[in-house]
Amino acid sequence: MKKKKIIIISIIIIILIISSILIFLNYQEMEVTIKEKIEVPLNSKLTNLDNITNLKNGQIITDEKTIDTSKIGEQKINISIKNKLGKVKEYHYTVNVYDDEKPSIIFSKELTIEEGQNIDLLKDVKVEDNSQEKITPSVEGNYDINEPGKYQLYYVAKDSSDNEAKEEFTLIVKEKKKESSQNDSLSNPQETKTFTTSKGFKGVIKDGITYIDGYLIVNKTYSLPSSYGTSLTSTTKNAFNKMQAAAKLDGINIYIASGFRSYQTQNRLYNNYVARDGKAKADTYSARPGHSEHQSGLAFDICSHDLDGQNACINSNFDNTDQAKWLAQNAYKYGFILRYPKGKTNETGYKYESWHFRYVGTDLSTKLYNNGDWLTMENYFGITSEY
Ligand SMILES: [Zn+2]
Repeated sequence: MKKKKIIIISIIIIILIISSILIFLNYQEMEVTIKEKIEVPLNSKLTNLDNITNLKNGQIITDEKTIDTSKIGEQKINISIKNKLGKVKEYHYTVNVYDDEKPSIIFSKELTIEEGQNIDLLKDVKVEDNSQEKITPSVEGNYDINEPGKYQLYYVAKDSSDNEAKEEFTLIVKEKKKESSQNDSLSNPQETKTFTTSKGFKGVIKDGITYIDGYLIVNKTYSLPSSYGTSLTSTTKNAFNKMQAAAKLDGINIYIASGFRSYQTQNRLYNNYVARDGKAKADTYSARPGHSEHQSGLAFDICSHDLDGQNACINSNFDNTDQAKWLAQNAYKYGFILRYPKGKTNETGYKYESWHFRYVGTDLSTKLYNNGDWLTMENYFGITSEY
């Protein structure tokens, strides 16, 4: 009987060994390759199973689905895979949809207007982008509808992923045709308009030049024609020479660092400032072409060779110099005014310029000197200075 027992146990052991071998032979470990994160461009074709690049000894249970890649950003994907023994394992990964395509701008390469004619440069411009977002284009560059010429400008469009498209176009401002001679003989060719300022002064605009109470006015509101001016006026120059001589007797040496500036020079200067600092900032310290008092031939910036090497010319370092103090106290005696006094930006449109003086004659300069508390032309005459 003992022998029979041994045989039965042996058979059981053999059966156990054989079935273990069979199970082992049938089961091999599952192998899956799934990247934790994949990056795809906007509007790519992608399914949830595309990230499984290698699968051995396993079976995907999750249904194949198309992933929506029409929106920028991340989304989580879950996938279930079972191994040969039927055990299910969950896998997760992230899909990041990005956009590196710039918008396309639909526009005309060339636009033509007549001098003085207003134009909305964005009117017929369309922007298309793969992101389907609404993109508003902008215009870069400077132009002047009152100044005939060809202007090289740019349309710029940027999507929310900072992909920027920039396209060049040309704006042509044609010179206005002169009215026929018949009309000229009928109407006065030198058109004159008059107005009254808020403080009751009489204003006259003649040939595009504005005079208030007889004084020529140039500021942000009132401009000069582009052809106006050639140099400092002789009255201005003579008055300066007198002032320079008087200053010297007080031990103050001064010279004109910047006098007359033509429309074209101012145009170049201003555009450089805009390129460097942007339009809003440039407008606080530099005049747009046609709006600079330097074009009038009545204004100039003063500096001193005694300040050479101190970087105190035409900048705020000049403010506290003996030269600036002398000028603020004495310039009026020679017919000059401190044109942009301290704290009067809201009147003049410009920040304080201790170096910029304007000839108006001693009558008005004495009034504006105001015993050392300088008044502005804008305040005195009741006019604005704004673009
Ligand atoms: Zn100046």
